[in-house]
Amino acid sequence: MERTACRRCLRPANLCICSAIRPIPTRTHVWILQHPGERRHPFGTAIIVQLALTNSRFDVVWDTEQEKFGDAAFPPGTALLFPGPTASDLSTMPTEKRPHTLVVLDGTWWGAKKLFNKNPALQRLPRVTLPLGVSPGHKLRREPAAGYLSTIEAVYASLKFLEPYTPNLDVLMAAYDRLCDGHLAERKSRHSSRYVDRSSHRTRRPPLDAETARRTVVLYGEVAPDKTGRKERALTSLAMMRLCDGALFHAFLQCPPDTLNEWHKGRMGLTDALLATAQSPEQVRTALRKWLGPDAYVTAWSQSTLDAAAPLLPAPPTTSLKTYYCNWRHRHAGDLSVVVEEEKLTVPTLEIPGRAAERLGMAVAVTTLLATPTDGGRPPEALVEFSNAEMKAPPQS
Ligand SMILES: [Zn+2]
Repeated sequence: MERTACRRCLRPANLCICSAIRPIPTRTHVWILQHPGERRHPFGTAIIVQLALTNSRFDVVWDTEQEKFGDAAFPPGTALLFPGPTASDLSTMPTEKRPHTLVVLDGTWWGAKKLFNKNPALQRLPRVTLPLGVSPGHKLRREPAAGYLSTIEAVYASLKFLEPYTPNLDVLMAAYDRLCDGHLAERKSRHSSRYVDRSSHRTRRPPLDAETARRTVVLYGEVAPDKTGRKERALTSLAMMRLCDGALFHAFLQCPPDTLNEWHKGRMGLTDALLATAQSPEQVRTALRKWLGPDAYVTAWSQSTLDAAAPLLPAPPTTSLKTYYCNWRHRHAGDLSVVVEEEKLTVPTLEIPGRAAERLGMAVAVTTLLATPTDGGRPPEALVEFSNAEMKAPPQS
């Protein structure tokens, strides 16, 4: 069935968010450069920024048009919102140093990084960044520390620091909430109608049965950046949680010197002191096998993490959570954080260092969802107990 779209916000007519968008005149000129891959993203938020901010500009950066965005394109006082060791923290920036034009890259994390790597003029711009874990007043859907803020959240947070007294900035977040709510409601109705259609021959059992869920250990691993072009990538850290009792295992793995630069460490939320505790793969393998026991069922969000961890595990890697999730929901899934947001999951707080705490917590939340019956039943008892609990690491032996 053909659906009409609103010509202004480009959303399906029944999900139009135009009534939530009001013009916001800002001092800062916001210039969004979009990765072409983001163009048809149904959940793109750059459009709201463009519609709401009267002092903004929007361009798609096609590969053939790179010269349009050379040094001359950016006026004096332009800064790029992009993390890096030289980036200035927007929350502590003196008024006189604040940029007049803020360039924001719109895309997935990798899309934005590609855009940055391909454009020397972008690399030459002074950089600004949002502080880690600091919320600018409005409750963001995700924390800046996760590195996966949507474009509109990043623009909103930046403007809150750059010009906190500009009226109506919260309109951005109100329109974004409307976008998210409409998207979720539509997805829900689409799924329920699909389940009704096929209910006679579709099993409603969750993809993880209770017995498997009780044996499940959820894994999150940080992988070293690949400098050698090797296909297999080495783990630098490993965090796991056993579902039946909430026990945690965490270890850093030794990697060649200079594998991780300051940017990587910042992104993973790790310090040199933490990395100094790294053990050899053999040591970690021995400790891990002892901790796991003989019949653990190890899973992780992505298959690539399971593959990277395979040499440390006692049994061959199992199915990834992403595969379970996609088969169950009958659709493609993007980043773990997006799934957590769309399914409105509660992420447990885990006491392990770095961003692994949040990422493992997200994977645990998705595992709990996958073990919860869809016909209104309750998840296995063991899962209920810690799905909302604060997890503590066992004492170090
Ligand atoms: Zn509209």
